[in-house]
Amino acid sequence: MLDDITRVGEDFDTELEGASDVKALDELRVKYFGRKGGLIPALFGRLKEVPKEQKKDVGDALNKLRDRLEESLKEKSERIAADEARRKESREHVDITLPGRRPRLGSLHPITLVRLRMEEVFREMGYSIDPGPEIESDWYNFEALNFTPDHPARDTQDTFFLDANAKEGTPLLLRTHTSNVQIRTMEKFKPPVKVLSCGRVYRRDEITMRRSPMFHQAEALLVDKGIHIGHMRATIEHFIRRIFGEEAQIRLRPSFFPFTEPSAEVDMSCFFCKGKGCGTCSQTGWMEILGCGMVHPQVLRNVGIDPEEWSGFAFGMGIDRVAMLKYDIPNIRTLFENDLRVLQQF
Ligand SMILES: [Zn+2]
Repeated sequence: MLDDITRVGEDFDTELEGASDVKALDELRVKYFGRKGGLIPALFGRLKEVPKEQKKDVGDALNKLRDRLEESLKEKSERIAADEARRKESREHVDITLPGRRPRLGSLHPITLVRLRMEEVFREMGYSIDPGPEIESDWYNFEALNFTPDHPARDTQDTFFLDANAKEGTPLLLRTHTSNVQIRTMEKFKPPVKVLSCGRVYRRDEITMRRSPMFHQAEALLVDKGIHIGHMRATIEHFIRRIFGEEAQIRLRPSFFPFTEPSAEVDMSCFFCKGKGCGTCSQTGWMEILGCGMVHPQVLRNVGIDPEEWSGFAFGMGIDRVAMLKYDIPNIRTLFENDLRVLQQF
């Protein structure tokens, strides 16, 4: 009987060693302490067969075994519970040394990026920024800028007029360029003036790869004493290099605008092929980028500035075109479709 008690104790130790979870422990508890067929109750049951003189020793051994086994089960069950809790905690543990997740931020539209960059470059040169109104009168959009009454740009084919049938006065229109800001600035401020105007302009164009009825222009005006074409060229060159890179070259070709004399188109060296010739520049190595000229004396007179005393230059360009060149966007429609997959790249 004492041997049996020892054997049960040893078996239990081995099995307890192997029990690694709550379920195994429960099974063990049933096997040894179960009311029906449990090994310990069975041993107690055999106590009555033990001869009287051994009863005390066997009883003591059995009690000791029962207490030891109960204690062991309790300990192991506590250890398993503690392990479980630790594992759970480590799963939910917050590692404060990990880098944080970036909040999802929006990005600026490529046209806005280019506009802000242009404004920054001109602000550095001391220009003020004035977007000007998009709804304009004939005077500011055409007349004061020296457009002849029969100039084709004044035709309803090219310009959006608001209420073209208005009986009194001339109808308002959606400005066709940002040059209206030239007149408004010179009317409002005595020279010297330096202003950059960036904003939306409107023309009755079909939507194509290159054209849109609404697009964005930037226009610079400077009026001061002794200003000549060299100042204009240097300013344009500085501006182009700040936007497209220091290696950019420019060239001027004679052109015509009603409000400047002389007038020129400015080409810049193609920055895709660095002037060698490629598909984007039609193998010429040059790309048309802006129009410019010395402010026409009649325009100065129209706003009460004496062209004998003051002179100035103006130049303007499409912000959309600059954005398309800078970011290699072949189709202007891409800029206005607001496809997030496109915009998220900026
Ligand atoms: Zn090229």
